[in-house]
Amino acid sequence: MGSSYLCMKEEVEDNTDIIMEGALIARDRVGVQDFVLLDSHTSEAAFLNNLRKRYQENLIYTYIGTLLVSVNPYKELDIYTVTQMQLYRGVNFFELPPHLYAIADNAYRVMCSEYNNHFILISGESGAGKTEASKKILQYYAVTCPTTEQLQVVRDRLLLSNPVLEAFGNAKTLRNDNSSRFGKYMDIQFDFKGAPVGGHILSYLIEKSRVVHQNHGERNFHIFYQLLEGGEKDLLCWLGLERNPQKYAYLVQGRCAKVFSINDKNDWKIVRKAFSIIDFTEKDLEHLFGIVASVLHLGNIQFEEDSNGHAIIRNGTQIKWISKVLSPLNVDLAFYARDAVAKAIYGRTFTWLVNKINGSLANKDSTRKTVIGLLDIYGFEVLDTNSFEQFCINYCNEKLQQLLIEMTLKAEQEEYEMEGIEWEPIPYFNNKIICDLVEQKHKGIISILDEECLRPGEATDLSFLEKLEEKVGDHAHFVTRKLADQKTRKSIDWVDFRLLHYAGEVTYCAVGFLEKNNDLLYRNLKEVLCNSKNGIVRDCFLLSELDSRRRPETVATQFKNSLMSLIEILMSKEPSYIRCIKPNENKEPGKFDDCLIRHQVKYLGLMEHLRVRRAGFAYRRKYEHFLRRYKSLCPATWPHWHGPAAEGVERLIKHIGYKPEEYKLGRTKIFIRFPKTLFATEDAFEI
Ligand code: ATP
Ligand code: MG
Repeated sequence: MGSSYLCMKEEVEDNTDIIMEGALIARDRVGVQDFVLLDSHTSEAAFLNNLRKRYQENLIYTYIGTLLVSVNPYKELDIYTVTQMQLYRGVNFFELPPHLYAIADNAYRVMCSEYNNHFILISGESGAGKTEASKKILQYYAVTCPTTEQLQVVRDRLLLSNPVLEAFGNAKTLRNDNSSRFGKYMDIQFDFKGAPVGGHILSYLIEKSRVVHQNHGERNFHIFYQLLEGGEKDLLCWLGLERNPQKYAYLVQGRCAKVFSINDKNDWKIVRKAFSIIDFTEKDLEHLFGIVASVLHLGNIQFEEDSNGHAIIRNGTQIKWISKVLSPLNVDLAFYARDAVAKAIYGRTFTWLVNKINGSLANKDSTRKTVIGLLDIYGFEVLDTNSFEQFCINYCNEKLQQLLIEMTLKAEQEEYEMEGIEWEPIPYFNNKIICDLVEQKHKGIISILDEECLRPGEATDLSFLEKLEEKVGDHAHFVTRKLADQKTRKSIDWVDFRLLHYAGEVTYCAVGFLEKNNDLLYRNLKEVLCNSKNGIVRDCFLLSELDSRRRPETVATQFKNSLMSLIEILMSKEPSYIRCIKPNENKEPGKFDDCLIRHQVKYLGLMEHLRVRRAGFAYRRKYEHFLRRYKSLCPATWPHWHGPAAEGVERLIKHIGYKPEEYKLGRTKIFIRFPKTLFATEDAFEI
């Protein structure tokens, strides 16, 4: 069973007294630190009220049992110091105010004592604070875990993999100045002494389309600006780059190359230093920066039509190869091919980068290790126009939501079973139906999309939509809407379909789905890349790929498979959860936007989680502990009870007057259904 879950509960028993007292005293002013302790029924209003009270006191963390809810403070708080880290180290879960460190420490301690594997799933929408949380957890382990001089290198590499991956995988978006545009799962490996000895990163679906297109107010990936701002003069000269980002077509679309909150020059220095510690050679870096520069150069290639209607390059004679392979295309296709090359090179280089970092984090000795996995994956996303990328991201969130529901319910149910407690599971929305709609073989949306991708030349985004309507049109979570141009009717400009996700309705624009799912590159362009003089490009585009007769998997299918194996990885580990909430749309400290937060509380399933916790039993305590705490309330148990603890507890609660519906007696524990029962006992005890 979920033993970390259980173990945390065991520890609660030792410390519930402290929480209870703390909660009683401070409840009015700063709310309760565990939503399970809210004594009004589990209404959304009470939930929000508690969250708001705490947020206003800079208490950004609150528990629901062992799940941590975090609200982004959008300001530096003095709660991440080394002193704070030491404070949480080795301390029982509920003894101190809720904190990331308590979650991190608990997973670590259970791992060390039970020698099992864990993961911490951090979820929430863009800008909610997932990446910050995952970095803080990593820092916590770096500071508090035992280490040796030799292991310090590993520690530094683990920490410094972050700035490198963020440089290449994060970007300024409208929602977040440092938005992760890829999903990340990182295993931290520990030896039998609990020292971090290695790591491994899995990355998921980087948003390649950003390389060639950014919406207004958004930027390309940070690395481009860092290189231009911070790159040494000689380096830029060698790469043929000018310092001014305005000179590059791939950097000007968003019209915000400079961002107040970002210091590209400084970040460049950090990234450079990180590269040297992660063991990149000068040659690697030469090739890597060469790629970054060539993407910028590619973006500046302009085409015009020759007399045959073929594209010719308007500027630059130095890029003859591009001209040679692109000239049979018309101008539109030439631009398309140019962008496809830029995306392919960048996307594959990112994968290369992750592999390279993994090489440097790998622990080569074969002794058994345990791991704590940190999952920081893009949150549910609803933009003005939602495309293939949002479809994949939201599907990923459906899968993780399902995992959470299953694992928390499972753990709860198993404990009741073990203790011989009867209980009726409370109804909750099982989003499996939506996962199936997306991923089912033959009948699911991804299969339908793949089938259309197999009909090149015939299939279009519109025919995909028609197939969807035909095959899943009557599914309860699917809605189609065609917006036809009423006048010309023949050409339907854009097509939409709508999914009712667990987190709300999302309308997807089907335009581009086929192309993005196919992700094809003209064969002759691939040939050029396979023969590149740049070692990284050559590593990324293998000649064997050209010879292969097998059709490569589509992007959606690859993503689906990688998610399936991620779920498998997670299911084999003990879970901890952090649910991050974004308090407002303006990145403003202290502003608690009720409406926005209510929506997140809803779709993060927090109320359901709370209800599950409460529908079962809010608190459970080992008979011995319960008796020790409250024995003074009953003459038969005070000052000493000499019989079995279970009998003593039975006598005790009879004397206090617990009603049968308020509790259940298990094999080793008393289960108390409502917090108010315990509050009353606590009050009686205090008098
Ligand atoms: P995305 O899905 O877009 O990657 P995210 O959930 O990873 O978003 P973060 O990048 O972690 O969001 O956080 C966004 C910003 O919010 C940070 O750059 C930082 O300014 C602020 N922030 C987040 N968490 C904290 C925190 N605990 N303390 C102070 N500021 C924070
Ligand atoms: Mg992030």
